[in-house]
Amino acid sequence: MQFSDTGKKLQKVRVMQVVKTEDEWRKQLSPAAFEITRHADTEMAFSGQYWNLHDKGIFRCICCDNALFSSETKFDSGTGWPSFLAPMAQENVQESRDATLGMVRTAISCTLCNAHLGHVFDDGPAPTHLRYCMNSAALRFIKQA
Ligand SMILES: [Zn+2]
Repeated sequence: MQFSDTGKKLQKVRVMQVVKTEDEWRKQLSPAAFEITRHADTEMAFSGQYWNLHDKGIFRCICCDNALFSSETKFDSGTGWPSFLAPMAQENVQESRDATLGMVRTAISCTLCNAHLGHVFDDGPAPTHLRYCMNSAALRFIKQA
């Protein structure tokens, strides 16, 4: 699902996955963004640039610009990571089982380029009761004018 920078739903399109080599990603991304999105790393809590951001706008994938989250569903989770009730479009993210670090979690990645974005937990507030716990470094914020 494509969205404008102001968060307006544009159209549903079928697009090819964005596939690049490790080297190409490394060149395009900051070291932090590379480790997080391509190697499923997690940034330190309260270290990212978006956990405490309250501006209006949308968050795109740092790797491929896919529209992922909107400030409309962002909430203060107290975790130190930007947290959302839901993605902008269910089709734009995918879930997978992550059993690393001795726990079972549900990892969230970008449908378009497979970038690791964070995890989703079921302890969020109403109405979805979900908490999409994302890494700032995996996102690029587009402030609404
Ligand atoms: Zn992406």
